[in-house]
Amino acid sequence: MALIVQKFGGTSVGTIEKIAAVAKRVIERQQEGNRMIVVLSAMAGETDRLIGMANSIQRIPDLREMDMLISSGEQVSVALFAMAVKAASYDAVSLLGDQVAIRTDQKHTRARIGSIGAERIQAYLDQGKIVTVAGFQGVTDQGDITTLGRGGSDTTAVALAAALKADACEIFTDVEGVFTTDPGVCSKARKIDYISYDEMLELASLGAKVLDIRAVSMAKRFKVPVHVRSTFTNTIGTWVVDEEKIMESMLVSGITYSKKEARITVKKVPDQPGTAAKIFLPISDAGILVDMIIQNTHDGGLTDMTFTVPKSDYDRAMDILNKVAVEIQAEEVTGDQEIAKVSIVGVGMRNHSGIASTMFQIMSKEGINMMMVSTSEIKVSVVIAEKYTELAVRALHDAFALDKNNMPQEVD
Ligand code: ADP
Ligand code: ASP
Ligand code: MG
Repeated sequence: MALIVQKFGGTSVGTIEKIAAVAKRVIERQQEGNRMIVVLSAMAGETDRLIGMANSIQRIPDLREMDMLISSGEQVSVALFAMAVKAASYDAVSLLGDQVAIRTDQKHTRARIGSIGAERIQAYLDQGKIVTVAGFQGVTDQGDITTLGRGGSDTTAVALAAALKADACEIFTDVEGVFTTDPGVCSKARKIDYISYDEMLELASLGAKVLDIRAVSMAKRFKVPVHVRSTFTNTIGTWVVDEEKIMESMLVSGITYSKKEARITVKKVPDQPGTAAKIFLPISDAGILVDMIIQNTHDGGLTDMTFTVPKSDYDRAMDILNKVAVEIQAEEVTGDQEIAKVSIVGVGMRNHSGIASTMFQIMSKEGINMMMVSTSEIKVSVVIAEKYTELAVRALHDAFALDKNNMPQEVD
């Protein structure tokens, strides 16, 4: 008997009818002779609705209470799903993160999983039940509820697959797999059949929200092959696997965008040792992740520090920096939330030069100003005005001919 973990995202369980349809699909798979663990997200829009309520009460919400609030969406989904299975005369049981014993650290709203208890799930599986687990949530050693960061149900699924040594981990969503870019933005986007963990990591970290980055890194670490596929069709989706299983690599395999970051500039700070530490230490102490950083030097020993932070941390970062600015005698702190980061990704870039300059030419042809640039071995990212995001994504997709079907094949 194979053990299969299936995860269904918010749009897949967005209505009662959809939950019933998912239950039917899972029951069929179980009746083919499989043990089934089903991880569910909150119903579509629910997590955003809960966050909206929190923000309307507290400008910077208390993070422990935030987790109490936003973990509730998944509780609703799993209970309704278990009822739907029972209504179809099969057996299911729903479990929350703490009932499974999904232990995390104490970093509320972005907790990391430390360990998972398998016993309770195993016992229910032995009784022939479909076990449904609330995604996105865990519990600290002190018994406080935590959440894993937006999109974190994917991580719950991969972590369960790793902990219980499942034969397959299937991520069901509202598109047919991982595409060369967001199919919602570019109609020419093409489904990728096989993608390496490393490329998927890069795509996920740069905004391709189809798979959560922590889910990918956990899949890579524990060698869990992940199949991303559609809830609404039976088509084969995208396999995320080891690089060795893929024969050749595209130069550029995907274009991503993220509208989730904001730009902050601390203007005219003294250009001397220690200044950067004074700016970035309190930011990192507050658990805020800084992404790109650039420094522009002025005459007279002064410099501007520009960097990006998640939009969700923007208000907290500005509060901190306004205090730091006084201390380090900076002229002022300015910010821009109307930005987007657009990136090109491909392991093939390791052995080729000139990719970045091609990207810059395309931006210039489209008249799009680049505010920041960063590169790594397998990606180039630029920060542009948010309103040009879709234009940039489509132009780059065309320029790198990603709609052409020349993707890697699997060996044997
Ligand atoms: P779920 O609720 O199932 O977790 P998400 O909304 O988190 O679904 O992720 C699926 C969405 O990711 C798609 O609807 C698509 O718009 C978006 N997306 C962004 N980049 C990509 C990509 N490269 N390939 C596929 N989908 C992508
Ligand atoms: N419901 C959570 C979110 O919207 C987790 C998830 O869907 O994966 O981010
Ligand atoms: Mg998701």
